[in-house]
Amino acid sequence: MTHAASRAPLLEVTDDGLYCRAGDFWIDPWRPVDRAVVTHAHADHARPGSRAYLGAEAGRGVLRTRLGPDATLELSGWGEIRRMNGVAISLHPAGHILGSAQVRVEHGGEVWVVTGDYKRRTDPTTTPFESLRCHTLVTESTFGLPVYRWPDPDAEMREVARWWASNRAAGRTSILFGYSLGKAQRLLAGLPRDLGPILVHGAVARLNESYRAAGVDLPDTLPADLEHAKLHRGRAMVVAPPSAGGTPWLRKFGAVSTAFASGWMRIRGTRRRRSGDRGFVISDHADWDALLTTVRESGAERVGVTHGYRATLVRYLREVEGLDAWALPTPWEDRAESEAESQADSEADSEVASEVDSEVEA
Ligand SMILES: [Zn+2]
Ligand SMILES: [Zn+2]
Repeated sequence: MTHAASRAPLLEVTDDGLYCRAGDFWIDPWRPVDRAVVTHAHADHARPGSRAYLGAEAGRGVLRTRLGPDATLELSGWGEIRRMNGVAISLHPAGHILGSAQVRVEHGGEVWVVTGDYKRRTDPTTTPFESLRCHTLVTESTFGLPVYRWPDPDAEMREVARWWASNRAAGRTSILFGYSLGKAQRLLAGLPRDLGPILVHGAVARLNESYRAAGVDLPDTLPADLEHAKLHRGRAMVVAPPSAGGTPWLRKFGAVSTAFASGWMRIRGTRRRRSGDRGFVISDHADWDALLTTVRESGAERVGVTHGYRATLVRYLREVEGLDAWALPTPWEDRAESEAESQADSEADSEVASEVDSEVEA
C-alpha cells in the first residue's frame, strides 16, 4: 500500500468531478464527459449529456428515466468486472435507492471504493448494502454529524400508520411528502395495505412503474387526480413529492394533515409537530454510526469525504480514528457547510420540480 503514495492517485478531482486518469472515466461527473460511471439515478449523480454511461443493471428503469431515451447506457450486473484501459471497475449494492451502486476501482494492486449515496438499514425496495474492503474509500457524508442517528425505520413506519389512522378517524386526508425517486417507493412499501386507498402524485406514479418492473412489491395505488381525491377525501393516504407542498394541488383533498419523511426530521421534527405537521425520521442515507461502521469495515487507510457535513467527519476520522482523511470538493463548494441541508433538499427537489410543473392538477 505504501507504494501508492509515490504515484498519482487512482482517482482525482477535476473541474468535471471525480476522474480516473488511468482508466479515462469519471464517476458521477458534474458536467457532461466522454465516459461516466454513475452510482444512481438522483439528479446530482446521474446528469444527462455525457457520451456514454456505465450503471447498475438493477437501476435500468430509473437510470433510463433520468438520462433519457437516447443516452448510451451500458449496464453491469452486481460484482461484474469491466475493464477500461486495464482498470477494473465493478459495481456493488449501496442500499440507497433502486439500483444504487458503490463503484470499486482496481489498478496495479490498488483498490478504491466510491460509495455514492448509501444506507445500511433494511429497505425492501433496494438491494442491501455490501461492505467492501479497499485501500482508499470515498464516502458520502450527507448526515456526517453525531446528532444524526436514525431510529428503527420499522418503528417509524408504524408511527406513520398510526398517524394515518388518527387522521382518518378525524376525517382528514393524510398527505405524506417524500422525494419521488426512492423515498416515495420506500414509504409505499411500508404502508399498511388495508387502512384505506393510497393515492400517488404523478411524479411518484411514473417512477413506481420502474420499481414494479424491477420486481419491487408496492401496494396498489390510484392516481391523485381530482376524481379520486374527491371520492376518497378524509380516508386516503396521498404520497407526493415535497415540492407539491403548499401548492394549489393540495386543495382538492379537502381537510388534510401533512407529514414529511426525511432524515432532516431528526432536528426539524419538533418544530414541525408544533405547527401541526408531522415529521418522520426516515432516511435513505447512512447516519453517523453507519458512516463510521462503513469506514472501519473497509479497512481503508485513506478516506475522502464528500457531500454534506464533510468537515466534522474528516476531523473525527483524523483525530479519533487516526486515518488519512480529507474533504473532496463538490459542485456546491461555495456554499457553507451549514447549508448542506438546503443543498440536499434542493438536490432532490430539483429532480421533481420540473415533473410537478409539467403536471398541473395531476
Ligand atoms: Zn441519492
Ligand atoms: Zn446525493
